[in-house]
Amino acid sequence: MATKRDYYEVLSVAKNAAGDEIKKAYRKVAIKYHPDKNPDDPTAEDKFKEAAEAYEVLSDEQKRARYDRHGHAGMGGGGGGAQNMEDIFSQFGDIFGGGGFESFFGGGRGQQGGRRVRKGSNLRIKLKLDLEEVANGVEKKIKVKRYVACEPCSGTGAKNGTDLKTCQTCQGQGQVKRVVNTMLGQMVSASTCPTCEGEGKVVTSTCDVCKGDGRQLHEEVIPINIPAGVAEGMQLSMTGKGNFPERGGVPGDLLIQIEEEPHELLRREGNNIMFEQYISFVDAALGSNIEVPTIEGKVKIKVEPGTQPGKILRLRGKGIKDINGYGRGDQLIHLNVWTPKSVSGEERELLEKLRDSRNFMPSPGKNDKGFFEKVKEYFQ
Ligand SMILES: [Zn+2]
Ligand SMILES: [Zn+2]
Repeated sequence: MATKRDYYEVLSVAKNAAGDEIKKAYRKVAIKYHPDKNPDDPTAEDKFKEAAEAYEVLSDEQKRARYDRHGHAGMGGGGGGAQNMEDIFSQFGDIFGGGGFESFFGGGRGQQGGRRVRKGSNLRIKLKLDLEEVANGVEKKIKVKRYVACEPCSGTGAKNGTDLKTCQTCQGQGQVKRVVNTMLGQMVSASTCPTCEGEGKVVTSTCDVCKGDGRQLHEEVIPINIPAGVAEGMQLSMTGKGNFPERGGVPGDLLIQIEEEPHELLRREGNNIMFEQYISFVDAALGSNIEVPTIEGKVKIKVEPGTQPGKILRLRGKGIKDINGYGRGDQLIHLNVWTPKSVSGEERELLEKLRDSRNFMPSPGKNDKGFFEKVKEYFQ
């Protein structure tokens, strides 16, 4: 994931900037990078979104305090990065006063007559995954209860979907406009029509099924493909699988927060898998074949004669698939040598015989790497 720019830097304001300074700065950046004004610059939309995200955090006292203390890490899954353009434009009511961005530029963003497209609320769920699922990706079927458009009235809330008439207050425009004088000259200020709440139409008789709500609660099973390599706290989103709004519009999104279930034996470290294996003193000295668990089941490995404690064996490609498609991690097996904690009389006798044996005296050579070299070698 790309590193994020500092929010203060994005808006070119000082760390101690006051609320209205931030607002002013955002307004400047937003006008500069507005996608409609920069049709030939593909980076404009990203810069525009970046500014909107920075403003969302810095204009909110609580979010700003959290950001000041912890930086981007304090902002939780994605740090508000999941904003879509509709959310950003709805923010402009506050910045540009009432009518939003369209009235400022006198243009529309493809919406007829300035009528607002209402967006339903997002649904949030948590999804537990085990290590195998994380490693390879998985298709999950999840049951969700969400609002969908009422069928008989097609989500309008009007009887048969047809008992609607054009709003008289706004003539179906959804907005009422007036001309205001500002520092920048005369501007048309538009605000949402109070009669139809921006819909441009009013219901003359309500749908019997949804009682005018335009939606119904519905339980459904949604298949989701979880890519390999996801991690705790990541958020996936499925556009349009959230709640349908009252009386028409577009549904919100389904946001899926990943939770990793710890494995009994294997531990995840980035895309690698770590495993601690104890071997007996005798196996370390004489060599042996042992079985170790991996995410794909048990695998036989060879312990070489003369293995020192702390040796790390690598099973290439037995780790987790990278989420961005950069190959696959490894499994690292850390070999520990088990020293008996108590011995019987007979065992004691055998060991005593070996105590002064020449080969049992430690004599590390230059190929016996110490702890620090091993760490360096494997975790660079
Ligand atoms: Zn109206
Ligand atoms: Zn209905």
